[in-house]
Formats: sequence, C-alpha cells, structure tokens
Amino acid sequence: MSETYDVAVIGGGPSGSYSAFLLASVGTGVVVIERKDGAVSAPCCTGVVGSGYADLVGVEPECVVADASSAVFISPSGRRLRVESPVSQALVLDRALLERRLLERAAGVGAHVRTGTVVLRIDRRDSGFELLLAGPASREVVHARALVVAGGVGPGLTRQIGLGGTQRYLVGAHAEIEMDDVSETEIYLLQDVARGLFAWLVPVGGHLVRVGVLGPRAAKAQAGRFLERPEVRRRLRKREIRITQRPVPVSPLRRTYADGLIVIGDAAGQVKPTTGGGLYFGAIAARAGADVVGQALAAGDLSSKALSGYERRWKSDFGSELRRGSRVRRIYGHLSPHQVDTVIDWAARRHIADELLESPSFSFDRHSRTLMAGLLRGLLGPLARPRLPRVGGSE
Ligand SMILES: Cc1cc2nc3c(=O)[nH]c(=O)nc-3n(C[C@H](O)[C@H](O)[C@H](O)COP(=O)(O)OP(=O)(O)OC[C@H]3O[C@@H](n4cnc5c(N)ncnc54)[C@H](O)[C@@H]3O)c2cc1C
Repeated sequence: MSETYDVAVIGGGPSGSYSAFLLASVGTGVVVIERKDGAVSAPCCTGVVGSGYADLVGVEPECVVADASSAVFISPSGRRLRVESPVSQALVLDRALLERRLLERAAGVGAHVRTGTVVLRIDRRDSGFELLLAGPASREVVHARALVVAGGVGPGLTRQIGLGGTQRYLVGAHAEIEMDDVSETEIYLLQDVARGLFAWLVPVGGHLVRVGVLGPRAAKAQAGRFLERPEVRRRLRKREIRITQRPVPVSPLRRTYADGLIVIGDAAGQVKPTTGGGLYFGAIAARAGADVVGQALAAGDLSSKALSGYERRWKSDFGSELRRGSRVRRIYGHLSPHQVDTVIDWAARRHIADELLESPSFSFDRHSRTLMAGLLRGLLGPLARPRLPRVGGSE
C-alpha cells in the first residue's frame, strides 16, 4: 500500500522545508521529498540575507556566521564608493546548516522528511497526485491531495505540471576561499569584462571569504578570471579553489498555481533580479502558499481558482519589487564601463550613497527603488544637475 499525504512538498531546500514546517505545524499531513541525502555541505549560495529573512523564518543564531554593516563598490576603472551604516544591514548564514535546521524543524512538527529521494514523475489522479519516487534502495509511489513544488531552478518539474519554465536566467558562481585583508564586503562592477557582470567578496570570519559572480553566462569561468585579477590574487592564501555554478532565474513563472498545486521559490522565479538573492522572497512565498493551501484543504476545494489567492498574495508583497528590479538590471546591463565609473564617482563625491542608505525607503531586501534613484542621479547628475526628487519621497 502506498502512503497518502495531504501535501507533498517537492524539494527540501530553504523554500520547501520552510513551507513544510508551516504546513505541518498546523496539523497538515506533509511529506518533503529531497534529492540530496543530507551529506552535501556547501550549497552554491553566498547566504547573505537581510534582517527581514531572519525575522520571518526565525533563523537560529548558530546559523549566522557574520554580519555586515559596510560595503565598498569598485567600478571598472577602480573608483571606489564605500557605504557604511551604523547598524547591521545584512547577515551571512551558514547555508548548509540553515538547510539542515529547516528540515529538522519541519520533521520536529510532524512532516515526514524523505532525503536521498528523487521525484521522477508526477501524475494527476482523481484524488490528487501520484508521485513516482526513486529512493536510496528502491522505487515507490506516494499519493498527495496537493503539491508544493519547490524544486529550485530548472524547468523539469514545472514543465511536467504544465506551467512551463521561467523565461530569463543569469548564471551565478560560488566559492569559499581563504584570503588576507578582506575586512568588509567588496562588490566589483565588471562592466568592462561583460555587460551586467558583477562579483563580490564577503568575509565570513577568520580568513574565510565567500566569492560570488553573477552574470549573463559562463559565471564559473568568469569567477576563475576574477580571482586572477592582481588586486584579488595577491590576497589569496591558496591557489586551488573549487568553484561551483548554477543558473539563477530572474523572471517569475507566468503562473505559479494550478489545480491542486502551487510553485514557490527559485522554481517559481521569485528571485531579486538585481542581486540574484532568493531566500527572502522564497520564504514569503512559502508562507503565503502554506496559508492558502491550508485554507483550501480545510474547505475541500483545491481548484486553481481557490489557489489563485497564493499568487495574488505574493505579487502584492513583492511583485512590484521584482518588476522594478528587472528594470534596474536592464538599465545597468546597457551602461558602458565609463558610465558605471561616472555613477560611482558622482555618488562618492556627492555622498549620494549615504543619503540613499539613510532614507526611510531603503531596505536590504527591497532596494530596487533606491538603486534606480542612485543610477538616475549618478547618470544625470554630472550632465545637468537637475533638482531630482529626494530619495524616499513618493513615486
Ligand atoms: C552564486 C549564488 C549566490 C547566491 N547568493 C545568495 C545570497 O547571498 N542570498 C540569497 O538570498 N540568495 C542567494 N542565492 C540564491 C539562493 O541560493 C536561492 O534563491 C535559494 O537557494 C532558493 O531556495 P529554493 O528552496 O527555492 O531552491 P533550492 O535551494 O534550489 O532548493 C531546491 C531543492 O529541491 C531539490 N530537488 C530538485 N528537484 C528535485 C526532485 N525531482 N526530487 C527531489 N528533490 C528535488 C534540490 O535538491 C534542492 O535541494 C544565490 C544563488 C547563487 C547561484
């Protein structure tokens, strides 16, 4: 006899395991199916979040390896813009530990966690869904009335359920390395190497530094070249570095629900187009989804109409942030290296960054308006010195 659950969550990454926790904590019968067997130690992710994520999810202090209150932006020709806040702006998480803790928490409130198990096929049945699983020892079938699809980037699962794939991707690369003299986050705007490319160094304690690169393609190769830049290479303590890469979806799915199911997190393309950060929006979507699926189960109505409230909720929360973030990325992608130099130079001389950071509208997680204002002021300011509205005013 196969097992039957109220909800099967496909993917036990940060979005899926948080969703499973929320559903199971109100008594829903949940199974989380995760391909990894728990032994994977270094996800391809820098793990930087704002306090919004930590507060929402309740991140345990042991998962926080560093916090950041300052960063320096470095333009293609080496101009520097340093921003500093009197309070911590971001936390850096032990990403592997976070994933483990979130799964443990889901199991702690009754979710059935199946690691080392892949969902091979999804079939619709009258009563919901039938999933074919490949576990460590054998294949088996489980049934669920509803699905939360949280399998991360890649169209395999979302195509199977008839929702297609996300339309636009960037590629991100990650490495953790030992370096000297990296005391604060450094962000390199590499417009001279490829349009839209940027790289970062994030210190996480001792000599450990997380390196990331985000760009249109070949991020792993770009990360290798970035580490060969003289100002980076001279600070490396080791030459052998393992770099991983994966795609980052930067446009949401056209539709994130259907009869009996919802899609959350990277699988739904709920990622900031500016930085590639997806933890926070994935968690907001997980919460909205758990509420809507829970209500639909209780009402015995899992139709797509009943589940459409999920999409309305996440769109009203961060839909406009995604749209504006896409515009910022498009504008940034069209700037010449000289224009990026100009923006950084102007912002540094006029203390625009300080003003932006101190404005009430600035938030680490909802920064697209601030970035747009900074770009426009940095580009137009040197030309015309117009009296642009102060950042933080109404749109
Ligand atoms: C280089 C890089 C740096 C990043 N840095 C940051 C950052 O600093 N801050 C931030 O907020 N975000 C960052 N991100 C993005 C962040 O990592 C993702 O947004 C986040 O991991 C999304 O979580 P998720 O649970 O939706 O998907 P995932 O983390 O991808 O989890 C999906 C899970 O589903 C499992 N799965 C997939 N298919 C199946 C299947 N068929 N059966 C069973 N299991 C399956 C996978 O094994 C995986 O564990 C970064 C991304 C990259 C590439």
